[in-house]
Amino acid sequence: MVTIKDIHQARERISTIINETPILSSSQLSNLCGNSMFFKAEHLQKTGAFKVRGATNKVMYAAAEGVSSVTAASSGNHGQAVAYIANILGVPATIVVPEDANASKVSAIRSYNGSIETCGTTSDERIPRAEILAKENGGVFIPPYDDPLVIAGQGTVGLEILEQLELVEAVVVPIGGGGLISGILTAVKEIKPSVKIIGVEPVSANDTYLSLKNRQITSIQKTNTIADGLRTSQPGSLTFPIVEKYIDNVVLVSEDEISQALFFVLERMKQLIEPSSAVTVAAAMFDKLNMRDKNVVCVLSGGNVDLGKIGHMM
Ligand SMILES: *Cc1c(COP(=O)(O)O)cnc(C)c1O
Repeated sequence: MVTIKDIHQARERISTIINETPILSSSQLSNLCGNSMFFKAEHLQKTGAFKVRGATNKVMYAAAEGVSSVTAASSGNHGQAVAYIANILGVPATIVVPEDANASKVSAIRSYNGSIETCGTTSDERIPRAEILAKENGGVFIPPYDDPLVIAGQGTVGLEILEQLELVEAVVVPIGGGGLISGILTAVKEIKPSVKIIGVEPVSANDTYLSLKNRQITSIQKTNTIADGLRTSQPGSLTFPIVEKYIDNVVLVSEDEISQALFFVLERMKQLIEPSSAVTVAAAMFDKLNMRDKNVVCVLSGGNVDLGKIGHMM
């Protein structure tokens, strides 16, 4: 299992690459939901999402071991993150994307000199292809969440929150495959166990919610939630035991609540976030947290949103 020591090591390893992102506040949202609301601004992170923390920890570790290349299977933030850090370190990266990948995301990967390979439309097709490519090239496959170095990298978000806001009483975190929340859980619960950690999933991507209820990893049908970073069909085999050990609660938000939260943050706070981030704000806005008069940090996990799609979310 990942420990607090791994997270401190990750922080040291990635510190020259990663931004320590600010904590924002909103008195309007605080009044609306009866808690003091703060926001960990990972949409202002390099590449526009927290994923670069875990990717950097894993790729820097591999590079120090002399790896010749890296591969990843992702159309989104993880693919950009791996291409970004590999480019900085001068390690060739191949990112396997789906045939229907968003053109702007593919061009972001290209801008970091990543090679693009297209394969199928599902992660069940992409991941084996990326693993084979890694083997052929003598390289390393960089998983998006189910890896100790990736989890430890994401956990640095938790360390920063504890230092930046000593009064923190609860942290609200989106859940996809569970890398971000299991890193934050390890950091926060091993340093300050009184802080509550609440996970959030879209109603239609409730795989972690169901897995906790069933006390075993449970998978769901393919979902089309607008929170595209949270579409994973089941929690990871490394992340789920950490979630099960430490988490206080998982709450669910609807598609309409996600888009209302995204527009609230855009209009009132002047911050551009993606739907996968907006789930944490939605949980607070629509009174799912079940707490009052607490200092609550919502993690804004990323800001990579296709502007052409935003109009259709209203
Ligand atoms: C990947 C991602 C998530 C989910 O993170 P997991 O580690 O898969 O749980 C949340 N928000 C954004 C913006 C992401 O890119």
